Amino acid sequence: MKDDNSQANGEEPPSGHRLRSLKEFHSAGRGFWHDVSDADWNDWRWQLKHRITRPEQLQRLMPTLTPEEFAGAKLADHKLALAITPYFFNLIDPADEHCPIRQQVIPRIEETRTAPWEMSDPCGEDSHSPVPGLVHRYPDRVLFLVTDRCAAYCRYCTRSRLVSNASGYDFHPEFDKQIAYIAQHPEVRDVLLSGGDPLLLSDEKLENLLSRLRAIPHVEFLRIGSRIPTFLPQRITPELCAMLKKFHPLFLSIHSNHPRELTTEVRDALGRLADAGIPLGNQSVLLKHVNDDAEIMRAHVQKLLMCRVKPYYLYQCDLISGSAHLRTSVRKGIEIMAQLRGHTTGYAVPQYVIDAPGGGGKVPITPDYVLSHNPDRVVLRNYEGKIFEYPEAPDGTPLFQPPGEIEEPELV
Ligand code: SF4
Repeated sequence: MKDDNSQANGEEPPSGHRLRSLKEFHSAGRGFWHDVSDADWNDWRWQLKHRITRPEQLQRLMPTLTPEEFAGAKLADHKLALAITPYFFNLIDPADEHCPIRQQVIPRIEETRTAPWEMSDPCGEDSHSPVPGLVHRYPDRVLFLVTDRCAAYCRYCTRSRLVSNASGYDFHPEFDKQIAYIAQHPEVRDVLLSGGDPLLLSDEKLENLLSRLRAIPHVEFLRIGSRIPTFLPQRITPELCAMLKKFHPLFLSIHSNHPRELTTEVRDALGRLADAGIPLGNQSVLLKHVNDDAEIMRAHVQKLLMCRVKPYYLYQCDLISGSAHLRTSVRKGIEIMAQLRGHTTGYAVPQYVIDAPGGGGKVPITPDYVLSHNPDRVVLRNYEGKIFEYPEAPDGTPLFQPPGEIEEPELV
């Protein structure tokens, strides 16, 4: 009733207020570090040096830490390390146990419980690795793992076996061997640098690596996957951007899951990258109580566009060991996608995918929009649920025909 009244009075319904407030840009602020000089706070190396890495340190900064979180933090050194930059820590709401930022970076004891279907290498990367640190799973592109370190550690990380070395994976990428493999495989036209986070390398090291890859004639396209713009926007310096722009075409995929991660600092950092001519995409992971809500997702994708970032993939959370408490259903993911497509700008709609367990690659998951496909017509459902018919061209072989009689649709 309240909603109806507010609409009748010409006021915005409550959900409109929520969407608008989720899309507001705020600074992360200084929080506990209010005494730190601007020069230090804005220095990415200072941020790395002052990361929160110990359970006692975390508890001192956040007395509201729950027993489950404290126990998780104590065990993190054996699975996936605890590390949070001071900048990112300031985004956590200490009063909210279900804070969407908190759940992404603060360990919980549930991480030590492994469901029967969970794996340490859910995407089968190790079995597609011709040389250490290189994954060649798709025909024309490779994943080049640069480092095993990140600015902070995501508790649902697909590569948690590898990053932070807490589980003793002993990752030692050998750039020479990785580069030699690419040089010897002319079918590789696209190289994705990831890890760990490639932007943790110094400008000099990263420039050297990019130069060596660019010197391979058949490498057409370079990509970097990085969570640095959201964990450590201070790293996106004008010098870094000036260096990266020498290697076009170079794309960069960031990783952000919730609109609150998109602060003024992040918006400015992304603006610097965009001004350097780097096309930006975002990869999100669908996470329970973080972003498994159509309105939060809508705010997030719209806010990404305001930061000049195209929402690229929405991943169903991989079956990584100890992630069941963060996983939401595929049904929920499909529902969210149905509430994006047609309801907001097409550029804002990511592709929802499941990385097929064991190494099958990304499989797109979409709500059903093709209701039937016969030799003479395709029956379609639009985003409002209305039915339409499109005449099939004479050479069209039906993709599929669902069993049973199909009711004659009511044409619009
Ligand atoms: S930044 Fe990426 S690689 Fe690092 S912990 Fe997060 S998901 Fe894993």
